[in-house]
Amino acid sequence: MLFDAIQSSTKVGIFSHVNPDGDAIGSTLALAGYLEAIGKPWRIFYPTAVSESLNFMIPECCAGRIAVWGASVPKGKCRDDQYAEVFSCDLLVGLDFNAIDRIREWGEPFIASTAYKILVDHHVGPQSEYFNEVYSRTDVSSTCELLYSLLGQFPGVDGDASALPDLSRRSLMTGMTTDTNNFANSVFPGTLTMASELLAAGTPRDEIILDLFFRYPRRRLEAEGYLICNNLKITPEGVAYIILDRRIQNRFHLQEGDTEGFVNKALSVDEVKISILVKQERSTPLVRISIRSKAGWSARQMALRYFHGGGHELASGGRLTIGVDVPNMREVENYLRRCIKDFTADVKV
Ligand code: 5GP
Ligand code: MN
Repeated sequence: MLFDAIQSSTKVGIFSHVNPDGDAIGSTLALAGYLEAIGKPWRIFYPTAVSESLNFMIPECCAGRIAVWGASVPKGKCRDDQYAEVFSCDLLVGLDFNAIDRIREWGEPFIASTAYKILVDHHVGPQSEYFNEVYSRTDVSSTCELLYSLLGQFPGVDGDASALPDLSRRSLMTGMTTDTNNFANSVFPGTLTMASELLAAGTPRDEIILDLFFRYPRRRLEAEGYLICNNLKITPEGVAYIILDRRIQNRFHLQEGDTEGFVNKALSVDEVKISILVKQERSTPLVRISIRSKAGWSARQMALRYFHGGGHELASGGRLTIGVDVPNMREVENYLRRCIKDFTADVKV
C-alpha cells in the first residue's frame, strides 16, 4: 500500500513527465504537501522545467526542492550529482506517466535505484515491470483524481478532504481541472464527487480558475488569432492541423506553455474530427505533436502509429525527430499529410 510504503521510507522521490502539465505538477505537489505535513523528507524530479503559465502552482517553500534535469548543475557534474539525489531516496513514486521514457534522463537512475517503486497513473498500458506497486486506472479524469482517492484511504484522512493539507487540496483541484479541460472531457462520477468534496473543504476554485485561464500574456491571444487565420488547415478527411515553427514562435516571443490548449480550438468546427498541433522545439531537433479527437476517432492510435507517442484515447501526443523521421522542417507537412491519409483510409469518415 502507498501509505505503508511512505511510513517505512526515510525520503521520498516523486517523479513526473517531461513538460509537466497541470496534472503532473498537481499530483506531485499534492503528494509532497502530504509528506510535508507528516514531516517526511521528499524531493520532486521533473525532466524539464515548469512553464511560466503553471508556475503559480509552485509555492515558494517547494521551489528549492524540485530537481529539473541538468538545471543549476555544472555540465560535467550533472550526471553524478543528479544520480546521487535519486539514490538518496528509498521510496520512488511515479505520477502521471505510463512509460519510463516519459521521465527522460531520470529514467536511468530511476531504474538503477534499489528503492521501493510505486506508480500512480491514469494512462492505458503502464510499464508495470519498473515498479513494485502500480495503481493504474483509466476510468478517472486524471492522476490527481486517482491520487485523491488513495490519499482519502490514508489513516488520518479517512475520506475527509478537509484533513488534507491546503497545498494538496489546491494542487489536486488544479490538476483535475486542467486534465478535464475544465470539465469538458474525461469527467466521471468520481471526478465530480472529488470536485464537490474539495470545494466543500474550502479549496479556492475561483482563484485557481483565474490563475489557470485568465492570466495569460497578451502574446498568447495574438499568436492564437494569427495561427487560426494563417496557419490552420483542414483536410477533406476532417483533420485540422497547425504547424508552429520556430519562426512564428520567435515572432510572437512565445514561451513554453503559451500554446497550451491551442490544439483544442479547431475541434470546435463541426467537420473536424481530429486536431493536430505540430510544434518545433526551440533547442532540440524535436518536433512535438499534440493530437485531440472526437469520440470514434483515436488520437492515441494516431500518436502510437506515426509519432512515437501515446496517451489517452482522445488526447495524445508524440514527437518527430528532424534528421531521423523527417529530413527537415519543410518536410514535416508532407509527412503529416501522408499520415492523415493513411490513418483516415482505415476508418470510416
Ligand atoms: P499534450 O498534447 O498535451 O502534450 O499531451 C496530451 C497527452 O498525450 C498527455 O497527457 C500524455 O498522456 C500524452 N503524450 C504526449 N506526448 C507523449 C509522448 O511523447 N509519449 C507518450 N507515450 N504520450 C505522450
Ligand atoms: Mn494526466
